[in-house]
Amino acid sequence: MAEPNLAELSLKPGDTIGILGGGQLGRMLALAAARLGLRSHVLAPEPDSPAFDVCAKQFVAAYDDEQALKALSASVSCVTYEFENVPARAVEILSGRTPVRPGAKALAVCQDRLFEKTLARDLGAPTAPFAPVESLDELRARLAEIGTPSILKTRRFGYDGKGQFVLRSPGDAEAAWTAVKGAPCILEGFVAFRREVSVIAARGLDGAVRSYPVTENEHRDQILRRSVAPAGIHPITARAAIELAEKIGVALDYVGVFGLELFVSGEGRSETLHVNEIAPRVHNSGHWTMDGADTSQFEQHVRAIAGLPLGSTALRSPSVEMINLIGGDAGRWRDHLATPGAQLHLYGKGEERPGRKMGHVTRLLPI
Ligand code: AMP
Repeated sequence: MAEPNLAELSLKPGDTIGILGGGQLGRMLALAAARLGLRSHVLAPEPDSPAFDVCAKQFVAAYDDEQALKALSASVSCVTYEFENVPARAVEILSGRTPVRPGAKALAVCQDRLFEKTLARDLGAPTAPFAPVESLDELRARLAEIGTPSILKTRRFGYDGKGQFVLRSPGDAEAAWTAVKGAPCILEGFVAFRREVSVIAARGLDGAVRSYPVTENEHRDQILRRSVAPAGIHPITARAAIELAEKIGVALDYVGVFGLELFVSGEGRSETLHVNEIAPRVHNSGHWTMDGADTSQFEQHVRAIAGLPLGSTALRSPSVEMINLIGGDAGRWRDHLATPGAQLHLYGKGEERPGRKMGHVTRLLPI
């Protein structure tokens, strides 16, 4: 078979990308696309979506609205998305009309924690012990094998700790099953991790892969609060994490940026990685790349889906920090503007609600 000619497949300045989802990730994707001379058309159900402020055309519609999806696909050269819960039906409608990147395989695997963990295990990556659970009896049986503490997670639609229940003893089974409302789940053994890290990786249309230095993440109330790159882990562990991400990218036939979330247990040379989650999209723990890397993750994603060469992922300073502005934190925007070296990014969201991501600040650190 003839090699695909990337120059023919790639988008050119003036072309348009479609984005499903109008949150801050869609907004930052559209801003990055604009820098490359590309337009963005955004489809999202909420009329006040942050991405609508910065795109050329808005489609206010549900994600499974066939008419709107057809109109979107007719007006763009390819479609991407900012969240993993894109309905399979939407991808089906779009796929016959315009390329969807990343593709259906990546979405199907990453929408389901069982498929995700199984892929990781099949690639030889360590994970917490896990098992599917579809009934209370099955939960009791799997608990007897995996033990406590353990976590029951819904297979689909969970994020920021939502759809999860920590079991501290076998007696918690019934409460856990009630909490997840009987949805198909996986039961995971608890990893006594020392650090949480992530790899932000990109795979181009031509199969080229580039990863950013591993990022270390701190959560508060299960929401990402602070990321620092590079992570304070052993270089061998960092290399292993990046190799694993790149293997996952190939296995998913991936095009675009994705985030691989990992737990690190142990210390120094005896550190061990455990795959937690694969996010088939730009990732909050990669926001530092906007100011701290040669190419931001948003531009990298646009480059990948547009069939353009991937950019350098090198750090621009010895270390970089990103702090999320959550709820009322964003009220201090004047202070951030007045802080030398702080780069403020606000998402244009009207209402400050507890737990809502309103913006972030990055800072280049000398060490
Ligand atoms: P998740 O939605 O899977 O990313 O989980 C949210 C948070 O719960 C993670 O960032 C961890 O802090 C914690 N967590 C999830 N799974 C495990 C596990 N198997 N062992 C220990 N902590 C976990």
